Amino acid sequence: MTRIPVALRREIVDRAGGCCEYCRLPVSELMFALEIDHVIPEKHGGPTTADNLSLACLRCNRRKGSDIVSFDWETGQRVDLYNPRTMRWDDHFNYQEDGLLASLTAIGAMTIKFLLLNTIERVDERRSLTQYGLYPCNPPRQI
Ligand SMILES: [Zn+2]
Repeated sequence: MTRIPVALRREIVDRAGGCCEYCRLPVSELMFALEIDHVIPEKHGGPTTADNLSLACLRCNRRKGSDIVSFDWETGQRVDLYNPRTMRWDDHFNYQEDGLLASLTAIGAMTIKFLLLNTIERVDERRSLTQYGLYPCNPPRQI
């Protein structure tokens, strides 16, 4: 794993506004710090550059690992996972006040399933944060 220079790490954190770029949890409400994710993993040739890095919470980063695609057994189709550097979050996900994340696309649905974004624990957490106006965390700018 490549060591990410401090200036680049700060750029990634600032760009994301302290939000996990996958589930949109704010870093201020997490037990652990957010991590820098290689969207296209190094083992697939992904560079350590701003256009290939994202900010991810521990749970999203661990679930994503080095995956960039999954397989939908119902349709028999290969489905890309959400890529925060080339896709807009709002095009693929919709937050509902009951804590659930709804998918707007096959990519959104696969990412929700693959990252386990709608487990009871995560839905309860989002619903609780919503009551205090802490969710969803919105990054200052998107692609
Ligand atoms: Zn997350």
